[in-house]
Amino acid sequence: MYRDDHPLKPERLIGVHDTLKRLGAFVHERATLLQPREATRAEVERIHAPEYVDAVTQASRDPERDYSRWGLARYGDTPPFAGMHEASLLTTGATLAGMDEVLAGRLDVAFNGAGGLHHAMRANASGFCIYNDPAIACGLLADRGMKVAYVDIDAHHGDGVQEAFYDTDQVLTISLHQDGHTLFPGTGSADERGTGKGLGYSVNVALPPGTDDPAYVRAFDAVVPPLLDRFRPDILVTQQGIDPHFSDPLTHLQVSTHAREHVVSWFARTSHMWVAMGGGGYSLDAVRRTWAMEYLLMLGVPIPEELHDADPPVEGGARRREIDRLTDIAIREAVGAAF
Ligand SMILES: [Zn+2]
Repeated sequence: MYRDDHPLKPERLIGVHDTLKRLGAFVHERATLLQPREATRAEVERIHAPEYVDAVTQASRDPERDYSRWGLARYGDTPPFAGMHEASLLTTGATLAGMDEVLAGRLDVAFNGAGGLHHAMRANASGFCIYNDPAIACGLLADRGMKVAYVDIDAHHGDGVQEAFYDTDQVLTISLHQDGHTLFPGTGSADERGTGKGLGYSVNVALPPGTDDPAYVRAFDAVVPPLLDRFRPDILVTQQGIDPHFSDPLTHLQVSTHAREHVVSWFARTSHMWVAMGGGGYSLDAVRRTWAMEYLLMLGVPIPEELHDADPPVEGGARRREIDRLTDIAIREAVGAAF
């Protein structure tokens, strides 16, 4: 566990779990609660350098030393902590346990709210992320010969996943995020398109600060369904960070539960096998209500009104026109850069 004042708090997920339990989600006949397992060293090394895994393992035993060259700085975003290797193996393994069930045909979709750690790079931690479970899952799926569509709806650019598959057409990565000029990690402009065989298979929708539900839904609909129709993936992998929410303290998008219902319902309506993860999200109440709602959408049951935002912000006047103008540019550039 990170230090007490770190925004990636375990109680985020306890709130989601308790809400779903109270709503009877886990006794539903289609629901299965899976036990996580530890990811294996070989699975982690599908994405990460062996020297980096060694460094994390050592930091886990002896966090007081200096690991800053691996992105693990004591006072940075991703400080070393005792047990971090084992905790990260479980977070990753939970995603893989869900993936295994989906591949075996026992589940249509699996969700790991603790996963979605999309900023971790091959040889360094970044942005609260130590092992990149979405990239590991996409890589293992690609190794089985599958075409993988990765859709990242966290407010931050899915840079680590993009980087891992930048030169291949086997994993299509699409990230909808707040423009990197205004938010960590600073990347994710539409001209990051991939290289070689991967040219056009990294797609970035860089949304302006202030993007609200109408603009967000328009951007999603203009980019994700048409590109997935064209790509024809064998499996869908999603990172569903809920830091685009208007109440999130770290970002400047203004998405509500209503836009999220639109997006996640679309994922659920596709016929693809589906491995879903959480991600960022630092407003505890928004995390609790949105991921509970998204789990119920995966189950295919009605959504109680209590999970929705009562009065989501929608901009008007000149601000509306400016958001729409910038969103249209983001859409045009993303679609224009795609395969
Ligand atoms: Zn995020």
